[in-house]
Amino acid sequence: MSAHDRRIDLHTHSSISDGTDTPAELVLAADKAGLDVVALTDHDTTEGWSQAAAALPAGLTLVPGVEFSCVSDNGHGRKISVHLLAYLFDPTSETIVTEQRRLRVERRARLRVMAERMADDGLPVDPDTLMSGLPEDSPAGRPHLARALVEAGLAADVNEAFALYLGNGRGYYLPRTDTPVEEAIDMITAAGGVTVLAHAWAHSRGPTVSAEVIEGLAEHGLTGLEVDHPNHDPATRDDLRALAARLDLLPTGSSDYHGTNKSIALGAETTDPDVFDELVARARGTALLVGGRR
Ligand code: AMP
Ligand code: FE
Ligand code: FE
Ligand code: ZN
Repeated sequence: MSAHDRRIDLHTHSSISDGTDTPAELVLAADKAGLDVVALTDHDTTEGWSQAAAALPAGLTLVPGVEFSCVSDNGHGRKISVHLLAYLFDPTSETIVTEQRRLRVERRARLRVMAERMADDGLPVDPDTLMSGLPEDSPAGRPHLARALVEAGLAADVNEAFALYLGNGRGYYLPRTDTPVEEAIDMITAAGGVTVLAHAWAHSRGPTVSAEVIEGLAEHGLTGLEVDHPNHDPATRDDLRALAARLDLLPTGSSDYHGTNKSIALGAETTDPDVFDELVARARGTALLVGGRR
């Protein structure tokens, strides 16, 4: 097989954050899906890395990563939520460990308040049951509450729970105190990692940053731009690809797999092998993990 046959998915979530596969199940599923390279990018935690590594099938390469919850100016003076993918950074970096712990604590507190507000309004949601059902110290997110709403019969599925109650701008949505994206780039770069702005123009998710903001992030050391993402339509992909080329950002592609919390399959979107090799060449915080090679 030539190097160009590699199938590479650089954005997935396990049950350590808001996916439904355990890290071990996820790497086995990635192998089954015919992937050669998969990045595990749980929200705000590196906890799944060791479990995924321990279960890695022969021939599959694991890219240790995280999707950082960040805040950015949108280019028009408004603060909005952005997600920053980080790969191959040193997971023992004090700055990163401390910030990720803060984010996880903040996520849990916010999820409880959202559930309390629903209970106060008479909806059949029990904040205590929700919180006690979450894995300890996990980066809990709205999908966990969405599942509870589905179980309570308030929504047909997770998507409807977002549409009715939890989506940005819906009645029970609460923002988080996320990391300013420039600070996140700084701490990841200092820890030897590379950064890719996730689903930057996924307009269906809420407000997005302007091209000028992305240009500023590129000047700040951003490495890449996620171009092929399920939430980007063809015209948006064209625009992002052109922007990436102009700003010398690496254009990546990935499924943003969340198990059964979303309907997108592993490998539904992929990254060009040459782009991947360049991304890896720029990182020095931690090594790729190759299954069957110890
Ligand atoms: P949180 O991190 O708690 O703000 O929740 C954000 C997560 O919820 C995202 O990473 C997605 O996995 C999921 N999500 C966001 N918007 C939607 C939506 N409209 N429908 C389904 N899932 C969504
Ligand atoms: Fe998610
Ligand atoms: Fe994301
Ligand atoms: Zn994601």
